[in-house]
Amino acid sequence: MPCFPENASSACDGNVRRVRRNAIPATQILDRFVSVRQHAAVQFAILGSGSGGNATLASANGLNILIDAGLSARQLTTRIQMMAVDCIDAILLTHEHGDHVRGLKTFLKSRDIPIYATSATAHVLRENGIQAKWKTFEAGQGFAIDDLRVESFSILHDAVDPVGYVIRSQTKNLGIISDAGHVTQSVIEQLKGMHGLFLEANYDEDLLASDTKRPWSIKQRISSRHGHLSNKQAAELLQSIGHQHLRHVVLGHLSGDCNDSQLATATMKNALKVKGLGDVEVCCACQDEPRGWWQL
Ligand SMILES: [Zn+2]
Ligand SMILES: [Zn+2]
Repeated sequence: MPCFPENASSACDGNVRRVRRNAIPATQILDRFVSVRQHAAVQFAILGSGSGGNATLASANGLNILIDAGLSARQLTTRIQMMAVDCIDAILLTHEHGDHVRGLKTFLKSRDIPIYATSATAHVLRENGIQAKWKTFEAGQGFAIDDLRVESFSILHDAVDPVGYVIRSQTKNLGIISDAGHVTQSVIEQLKGMHGLFLEANYDEDLLASDTKRPWSIKQRISSRHGHLSNKQAAELLQSIGHQHLRHVVLGHLSGDCNDSQLATATMKNALKVKGLGDVEVCCACQDEPRGWWQL
């Protein structure tokens, strides 16, 4: 499936298309990024998302934060450059699965970047040989990165201590939830009042049920309370937290076999329309190429 269908809306494909079509001199990249920084309190981009690897960029108050590092170090470096980012100030990890940390060890070899993770997640990764400037916290705790506020919240997934995040600037809030088998009331409370949201929409229930590649046990794992969010679950979450200032929803971790970007987008748009929120932009992240920026 192409990453940029010809009928994609301009809000979803603008900057990346410009970067891909025209080689931008480094000085212009810096100028463009500085001007974006000045005009947006929080912006985010998805470097890649899916079972092949996940990584998100958030930029606010002059800080660039990488959330997860599940692409190869080479791809991380390339895609960060494609998004015109010159340095990463901090890395947040959601959990220790390979599709979220695959490139971390090599990426850190030439960089001294603090990594924020729960104590349990950091422990597992340390035991797997990842030496870093660890900044640990307990799920549910918040912390500051300069003048940005980051809140963590527990999610249900088959990892040691998985979390989602809310990144708050003075005026805008970005929520990040992926790899969650079930939406709890506490997740709903955490994600109220977001201006932007990166939301897992892993599978369509009918497509998963009719899939012939996966054994029953894998299907059970995916759809369990400690698996992944379906389109239906993601849409229900959106209906619970949608509000008039929600601007961008980017769907991620879509299964290549058991979901479809147009189906997932339509499911979310319909759910939002029911609440009178038909103007919210809904897009899908892509495995093979970065997408963004979305400005809040
Ligand atoms: Zn996972
Ligand atoms: Zn994952």
